[in-house]
Amino acid sequence: MKASQFFISTLKEAPADAEVVSHQLMMRAGMIKRLGAGIYNYMPMGLRVIRKVEGIIREEMNRAGAVELLMPVVQPAELWQETGRFDKMGPELMRVKDRHDRDFIIQPTSEEVVTDIARQELRSYKQLPRNFYHIQTKFRDERRPRFGVMRGREFTMKDAYSFDRDEAGATRSYEAMFAAYKRIFDRFGLEYRAVAADTGAIGGDLSHEFQVIAETGEDAIVYCPTSDYAANIELAEGVALLSVRAAAGAVMAKTSTPGKSTCADVAALLGLPLAQTVKSLVLATDELDEHGDVKKTTVWLLLLRGDHDMNEVKAGKVEGLKGGFRFATLAEIEEHFGCKPGYLGPVGLRKPVKVIADRTVANMADFVCGANEPDFHLTGVNWGRDLPEPDAVVDIRNVVEGDPSPDGKGVLAIQRGIEVGHVFFLGTKYSKAMNANYLDETGKPQLMQMGCYGIGVTRILGAAIEQNHDARGIIWPISIAPFQVVLCPIGYDRSADVKVAADALHDELAAAGIDVLLDDRGERPGAMFADWELIGVPLRVVLSDRGLKEGLLEMQGRREAEAQKIAVAEVGAVVK
Ligand code: ATP
Ligand code: MG
Ligand code: MG
Ligand code: MG
Repeated sequence: MKASQFFISTLKEAPADAEVVSHQLMMRAGMIKRLGAGIYNYMPMGLRVIRKVEGIIREEMNRAGAVELLMPVVQPAELWQETGRFDKMGPELMRVKDRHDRDFIIQPTSEEVVTDIARQELRSYKQLPRNFYHIQTKFRDERRPRFGVMRGREFTMKDAYSFDRDEAGATRSYEAMFAAYKRIFDRFGLEYRAVAADTGAIGGDLSHEFQVIAETGEDAIVYCPTSDYAANIELAEGVALLSVRAAAGAVMAKTSTPGKSTCADVAALLGLPLAQTVKSLVLATDELDEHGDVKKTTVWLLLLRGDHDMNEVKAGKVEGLKGGFRFATLAEIEEHFGCKPGYLGPVGLRKPVKVIADRTVANMADFVCGANEPDFHLTGVNWGRDLPEPDAVVDIRNVVEGDPSPDGKGVLAIQRGIEVGHVFFLGTKYSKAMNANYLDETGKPQLMQMGCYGIGVTRILGAAIEQNHDARGIIWPISIAPFQVVLCPIGYDRSADVKVAADALHDELAAAGIDVLLDDRGERPGAMFADWELIGVPLRVVLSDRGLKEGLLEMQGRREAEAQKIAVAEVGAVVK
């Protein structure tokens, strides 16, 4: 490929809204172009990386026995009504109408459609197991799209769905996907961890996230350096403290009867200046995850009464809260507290309370809490009054480094991560709702056991850059670099020798299957080098008249401080 036939468009400055380095560098390197909030054009340079990522995923999915198909982006609402997700899923689900006023959705994921295919096509036990996948555009109307392609609204995901006869089979399918994911992320050349993840209301213990290690990650991971233990922090700690601090803030702002109460303990615990009693308090949002289940990180519930010991709350011993302190659905909360339906939840929260997975609370200003007693809900609370500025982040992590690891094999360490993949054992959640069954050997219908497996294709780009960059730009791992080698001739437009040598080397490398780009733009060396350092091509070869006279070229790895002189004749062998 020659630069003159390609499209290169770099920027000196990143736009002001780019908060994290990957977003800044992708914009500056001309990989993406913003079209709207969370919606990007993938420019030629970025698309090459996306294609490489997809290529690796495709190879490994096929190797693991999954079969590629392609399901539509726009899907009829009927299927989503069958599982109840059309109504249950919150505003992240983009609903649209056609000219006949019929409802459709823009897919955030494809369980319904794939289950519909399975119930029609997979009739007999002989056709199982089966794993279908596609790499397709997704749309999620994220509350806060940000970080460029890392949290877009339109993005590309690889999603796979396995169908098995029984749980044992589904477990094998899950394990095969888990192994395939390891190969995929190994091939990307990224530092990552597979961590146990929350399964929410689906239950079971089979869910893992693949987290790319990066300071800017929105997730926190706890792991034990001396054992295999690794989990999303959501799983490792109770939610009580989180809810407690949030509630304490609300309670504090209410400024009703001061006095000795559990809230005082809470306030002391959290170092807050003021504590109040409140009879009961519920904070909730109804944001649902991709399976229509209440998201643990965004739905939370706290009941505080003057007569309850905080330790009891934390231990889940409070009356009515069975099985430990946990998040509940709005319906459960309403039922539990005898509230009128619709009394709580979105109505109660004027501005969303954003709870980030690592127990960080932000965006707390100006919200309203429901309560189960008349006149006891809190309105117009200005949370920002005693706490940091709205949008500031309050870290209320519960698990801390050095805590004993749950497996008893050491102590915990904490790292931040970016969720790039998620594997999930679904069981019969969808097959039951949609009546997807097969006939067993005896001719009896049986529900299919399912699993689903996602990888955020476009998010990988951001995650890779967060992990691999320096002051000059991106440093792509070779397997997903837009080009593996860039040839930088000095004086390509002036020197016949340079042009001939550069063209010949380009053709030789290209013929050997190397992804090479020849920069024939005739740019000055400084500007040319800066562009390629920004774009992050792993290997640069410089050709100049001076070097060629001695039969030498200069070769420099993107991470290397100095160039190496190398004989023209050897370059091919070295690069290959
Ligand atoms: P998150 O917790 O970051 O919102 P998720 O748990 O909602 O992600 P899944 O439903 O598990 O995401 O989807 C599978 C994968 O799709 C994720 O692991 C992630 O890599 C990717 N993904 C999800 N949401 C986005 C998004 N808004 N932009 C880009 N990639 C995304
Ligand atoms: Mg999400
Ligand atoms: Mg997640
Ligand atoms: Mg997930």
